Amino acid sequence: MGSDLAMLPRLARDLTEPEPIPEAGIARACELMRSGRLFRYGEMGADQNDVALLEQEFAAFVGRRYCIAVNSGGAALCLALKVLDLQPGEPVLVNGFTLAPVPGAILHAGGRPVLVEIGPDYVIDCTDLRAKARASGARILLLSHMRGHIADMDAVMAACDELGLLLVEDCAHALCAAWDGRAIGTFGTAAAFSAQTYKHLNAGEGGFLVLDDDDRTARAILQSGSYMLHGQHRSAPAADVMSRWEEQTPNFSMRMTALAAALLRPQLHDLPRRAARWNAIHDRLGAAIARSQHVRLPARSPKERYAATSVQFSLLGFGDDEIAAVLERCAARGLPIKWFGAGRQRGFTSAPRHWRYAGEQGPMAQTHATLAGLCDIRTPLSLTVQDCDLAAEILREAIETIVSARAETGKTGRAATG
Ligand SMILES: *Cc1c(COP(=O)(O)O)cnc(C)c1O
Repeated sequence: MGSDLAMLPRLARDLTEPEPIPEAGIARACELMRSGRLFRYGEMGADQNDVALLEQEFAAFVGRRYCIAVNSGGAALCLALKVLDLQPGEPVLVNGFTLAPVPGAILHAGGRPVLVEIGPDYVIDCTDLRAKARASGARILLLSHMRGHIADMDAVMAACDELGLLLVEDCAHALCAAWDGRAIGTFGTAAAFSAQTYKHLNAGEGGFLVLDDDDRTARAILQSGSYMLHGQHRSAPAADVMSRWEEQTPNFSMRMTALAAALLRPQLHDLPRRAARWNAIHDRLGAAIARSQHVRLPARSPKERYAATSVQFSLLGFGDDEIAAVLERCAARGLPIKWFGAGRQRGFTSAPRHWRYAGEQGPMAQTHATLAGLCDIRTPLSLTVQDCDLAAEILREAIETIVSARAETGKTGRAATG
């Protein structure tokens, strides 16, 4: 990389920087630590059960009857599949643009992932969904609202009805999102959320399962590991429903700690304000990036409401080496960009071809074509308007540099070489 870069302004912002925990959360966490009572259940009952309160609040926030807090988003997905009676080796449909813990949760629950193609706008392709559902005989669709990109839920629900599919929603990036006024996380039989640091709520680790059905909720509570102390849940079906399942349900120990709940409760209250700020940052950066003719942002329906903690875009007509060069140039100016088309999985970025443990999936040509140019910039709430504009300028400069290098050497990008 040339020394010319040293003359250009750098983005002096750590894009991995999370928000601080609200003071109320810190204070409550200190109280809990002084008491030593970090387990969510008190053997003799609990004065203030932080996890039980959070479950109630989270269920109300999303608009579901019940919530069970667990130790990760992946654990919530696993429990969702368990309470849908997933059988060993049973196929589960899942869109190919997602994060590794999603095929991981299917395998953890004993199922077999069947990947479904995505289209150029990053969301599930309902034609392939129908084909894969029929070919596999699957009964469950795990729809991952990856990076908060919401599929046409009218079309997805129509396909589920037609094919008799039970829907589980992976909402790890879709808290506060909606389709046509209806909250994401309320479409499926069950939905899972994450409170890992790089999601909308941050406890380091944590997850939520939401659902409406009494029996499935009772089983999820018992499976999450409630040691017959489930009477302390506030978001739970009646005692007789619980007791029906007590001796039939194993304990998988996936509980959330009181400490995590203490950190999360004040964040949940602040979430609508944060979501608005996240979107302002996303829209500013997205619009600035989209001005380049070499970049495309996915089309989004007017029915979609999102709360984006990162920006995704596609680099158009570049070869792999060129994309690598663009990203290297950006990184040298302090702008780290993730790339789903990279040969090796790195950090949070991976693609179906890296999931060999998921078994043979056929070519997935459409998904790979979309992921080949798909890039991702994290947008922490600390990002200012100036940062957004500088980030877009850094990307534009890198693209122009690589494109003009191509013109000089007479080489062409992906479109002509492929
Ligand atoms: C983060 C994430 C998960 C899982 O969350 P963990 O809490 O890390 O287990 C699931 N799906 C998607 C799309 C995610 O980004």
